[in-house]
Amino acid sequence: MTEIRIDTASPYRVMIGSGLLEEADKYIQKLEKIPESVVVVTDTNVGPLYADRILDALEDFHPSLYTVPAGEENKTPDTLISIVRALVQHGLTRSDLVIALGGGVVGDMAGFASAIYLRGIRFVQCPTTLLSAVDASVGGKTAVDLPEGKNLVGAFHQPSMVICDTDTFKTLPEIRIADGAAEMIKHAMIADTPLLEQMRDPGWKIHIEETVARNIEIKRSFVLGDEKDQGKRQMLNFGHTIGHAIEAWSGFRLTHGQAVAIGMVMETRAARKLGFTDMDENELIRVLEANHLPVTAAAPADQILHFALHDKKRQSKGINVVIPRKTGQAELRTLDPEQFKQYIGAALI
Ligand code: NAD
Repeated sequence: MTEIRIDTASPYRVMIGSGLLEEADKYIQKLEKIPESVVVVTDTNVGPLYADRILDALEDFHPSLYTVPAGEENKTPDTLISIVRALVQHGLTRSDLVIALGGGVVGDMAGFASAIYLRGIRFVQCPTTLLSAVDASVGGKTAVDLPEGKNLVGAFHQPSMVICDTDTFKTLPEIRIADGAAEMIKHAMIADTPLLEQMRDPGWKIHIEETVARNIEIKRSFVLGDEKDQGKRQMLNFGHTIGHAIEAWSGFRLTHGQAVAIGMVMETRAARKLGFTDMDENELIRVLEANHLPVTAAAPADQILHFALHDKKRQSKGINVVIPRKTGQAELRTLDPEQFKQYIGAALI
């Protein structure tokens, strides 16, 4: 088992390893204040696979289970309110605990429900997708979607602990492993050259605990000192400015990881063509393809611009983009709307 401490304003520990759900009681006992009751929130795919393991382990904490329908299309205010109402029905108090058991969708919604229920109670993340393990479960961003766009309503609310049982990844379909790999390749591109080399070889999956731990350390290095996403944390958006546009343009037929993979290639190309970097996208393409991720999409420039501007219009001073300098190193650059238009044009082949 690997343990990582995240020293945010309210610090918490991340436990990573095999078989951790069965011994969740041991970790919950380590919380500063021991809860009397817990509600485990999960989804219709994850619940039947893993809920019993954690419910059995937590029998001393009067556990209840609340299951939401799986999928991004259910990351809505209605589902959020249904979770909050379940917490009311189970009589959870301020000193009790919510446990999110699932991927990023469950984590984002159960986290947000905990942020607003009784004006905020504690929650623990138990990520069951690779993407949520290396990205969504750490850093305290919680949200739901609106018809107008993704993650438009949310709160910063750090978990009190993250319990990542790597055994749960064994039931993930290949496409979800690739989604997690996309975020790991992003981490490598902005902060860790050896990780990029490691990701070239599909054998990285054998060393899952170490690889997840390394990725959480990288995410931690960007979150600490910038919990509210005003500065260096925005480097984690590499591939996401164009990636979000590609995801929306595809009508969400592309997964988040696939869209980010294409976004990273296009953003690297745009930065090179505009003379912001000497780096080319060939090495990145090789690593993405080795992880079964797409590297191009036939999206027209005006469509990408439309969706990217829609996504970015809430930034007040220009549009921040991430420029890869060389593998393992990147910087932020602010573009005015005209430069951003050129940037999108240059992103296409
Ligand atoms: P997800 O939660 O929808 O999970 C993907 C699918 O896998 C779902 O159908 C789920 O039921 C299923 N699943 C989960 N664990 C499984 C397992 N062990 N075995 C079999 N099936 C399993 O999606 P995701 O890819 O985990 O996360 C994407 C979400 O995370 C998006 O909503 C995104 O906005 C959010 N996100 C949040 C942050 C953050 O910082 N808060 C960061 C990145 C992404």
